[in-house]
Amino acid sequence: MSKPIFQRVALIGLGLIGSSIAWAARRSGAAGELVGHANSEATRARARDLGFCDRITASAAEAVEGADLVILCVPVGAYGAVTAEIAPALKAGAVVSDVGSVKQAAIEAITPHLPDHVHFIPAHPLAGTEHSGPDAGFAELFDNRWCILTPVEDTDPDALADLRAFWESLGARVEHMDAAHHDLVLAVTSHVPHAIAYTMCGVADDMARVTDQEVVQYSAAGFRDFTRIAASDPVMWRDVFLANKSATIEILGRFVEELMTLQRAIRTGDGDHLLAYFTRTRAIRRSIIEAGQDVETPDFGRASRPPHQK
Ligand code: NAP
Repeated sequence: MSKPIFQRVALIGLGLIGSSIAWAARRSGAAGELVGHANSEATRARARDLGFCDRITASAAEAVEGADLVILCVPVGAYGAVTAEIAPALKAGAVVSDVGSVKQAAIEAITPHLPDHVHFIPAHPLAGTEHSGPDAGFAELFDNRWCILTPVEDTDPDALADLRAFWESLGARVEHMDAAHHDLVLAVTSHVPHAIAYTMCGVADDMARVTDQEVVQYSAAGFRDFTRIAASDPVMWRDVFLANKSATIEILGRFVEELMTLQRAIRTGDGDHLLAYFTRTRAIRRSIIEAGQDVETPDFGRASRPPHQK
């Protein structure tokens, strides 16, 4: 256990990400005290039972009182209302951050409500599972995963260094990026892949009705992997697409163009094209494994997760 980086840390939102931050901070000792708040009494009661925070409060404003670090772990669509609620209670000099999957919209939603006496540093841990809620969290979620910080202009260097140290203590590797660049990169690596998985599951669902459940019964690895992604939290993903509209549409456009080329190669029997294309894409998988961002198993690395996450 190391010395706390922040004496009091407030987590607003106690689902997969909020509870995982709490578990990882307990593991490292990076927070002197962990205070949590969630929307519903049911989640707050469950969080109390699980015991990943020292205190759970009935209101978000109460949770942030005296906190040195406040992290919003709620869906991006709730950012404006939550920030407006906590703003008057924020301590001078506090670091305010978030974990949202979209950064430009997060900055636009949060900044107008914040007082001048706090340091706002947006963040996005590139780690998750298809599970949500307070039971979904685990201390290892961020281990060896990237956490991207998108500091706004004139960010205080000490506050930035503390937030970086906090995420490193949770097991993450930290990188800085411009918010607009982050949103484009994530559209390629996460948002459009989710859109494709949702769409493929929609197609299969229609097919299943036609073929009397055969799609489900005989689902092969490719389709099963799509269903894992498409099982992600609907509220979170609605907000991601609404908040990262232009980058998602740009990448979806490119995807459709590639798909048309592939369709043409299949229709015209252009085996050379298919072989060259699949050889190129196979190399991407190899480089992800070599970078330590996944393991060589056909189930998206579930075997490496704690038993309750498999
Ligand atoms: P989650 O498991 O569904 O948890 C969301 C939490 O936010 C719940 O505790 C919910 O409380 C709370 N909440 C919602 N609206 C609220 C409000 N107005 N006031 C207070 N609490 C509120 O979601 P998650 O997966 O942890 O995602 C949270 C954030 O992390 C999102 O912004 C998402 O973009 C980001 N993120 C997610 C992933 C991922 O893979 N899941 C990865 C990286 C980043 P109740 O339970 O009481 O409703």
